[in-house]
Amino acid sequence: MAEDENIQLIPVTWIKQYHFCPRIIYYIGVLGFNERTTESMIEGKEFHISEEKRSLLRKTLAGERKEFIKRSWSRVYALSNKLGLYGIIDEVAETNDGLVVIENKYAKAPRKPHSGHIYQAIAYAMLAEEIFNKNVKKIIIRYVYDKKSFEIKVTDELKKHVIWTISRIRSIIEKEKIPRGINNYKCNNCGFRKMCKDIR
Ligand code: SF4
Repeated sequence: MAEDENIQLIPVTWIKQYHFCPRIIYYIGVLGFNERTTESMIEGKEFHISEEKRSLLRKTLAGERKEFIKRSWSRVYALSNKLGLYGIIDEVAETNDGLVVIENKYAKAPRKPHSGHIYQAIAYAMLAEEIFNKNVKKIIIRYVYDKKSFEIKVTDELKKHVIWTISRIRSIIEKEKIPRGINNYKCNNCGFRKMCKDIR
C-alpha cells in the first residue's frame, strides 16, 4: 500500500466489523453511524479497566505454557500511514521468544476464535511491528470472562488477508455502495438490525 500522508486512516476495529458483516462498514464508514451501545458493551468497558491493571502485574503469559514476560506495555496507541490504520493495542509483551500481542475480548469464549477477532489482532501485530521495529511472533486472543486464551502464529498469509480486508473497507467507503446484507443468525446480535430490515 502506498504511503500517503493524506490517506484516511481506518480504525482497526473496522477489520473485525468487516468480517462480521461488510454492510456494517457502509453504516459506520459512509453514513457515519455508531453501533448502538449495549449493556454488555458497557460492562465490558468497566471490566476492561480492571483487566488493564491486572495485565501490568502479570509476570507470565496466560497461554497453555507459562512464558516469562520480560517487559510489557498496556494500551499502546498505534498509527500507521503505511497500513492506513490506527488503534489501541491492548497489550504487547516481550518474552524470550520475541514480541507477543494480546487482544482481550469480553464476549463469551467460542470453540475457536471468530475470523474477525483473528484479523483484528493480526492488524494490531502489524502495527506493533512498525512501532517496536521487531517481529511479532504470535497473537493471543484472551476471552477474559471465560479465562480462555488462543495462541495464533503470525504468518504472511494472515497479514496478506488483513491488507486485503483494508482494501475492501476502502472500496466500500470510496464507492459508497451498500454491500449485500448477510441475512443470517448474526443479524440477531447486530446493532443495525432494525435499519437493515427497512432496506431489505
Ligand atoms: S443486520 Fe445483518 S445484514 Fe444488517 S448489518 Fe447487521 S449483520 Fe449485516
